[in-house]
Amino acid sequence: MPVYEFKCKKCNTDFSKKSSMAEKKYIKCPKCDSKELKENFTTNTSCSLFAKRLSGG
Ligand SMILES: [Zn+2]
Repeated sequence: MPVYEFKCKKCNTDFSKKSSMAEKKYIKCPKCDSKELKENFTTNTSCSLFAKRLSGG
């Protein structure tokens, strides 16, 4: 299952959640329960592994 990173628009909390695509829309801020979240697109998944391999030599 992929891990998504979010930032709460209300209280600015950064958090990450493991979630399926379908469950993603139900995710709430763990701090204030707000659903107004901004999704952070991080590269710490398979993408960065690939990048590391490219630069690592
Ligand atoms: Zn919040």
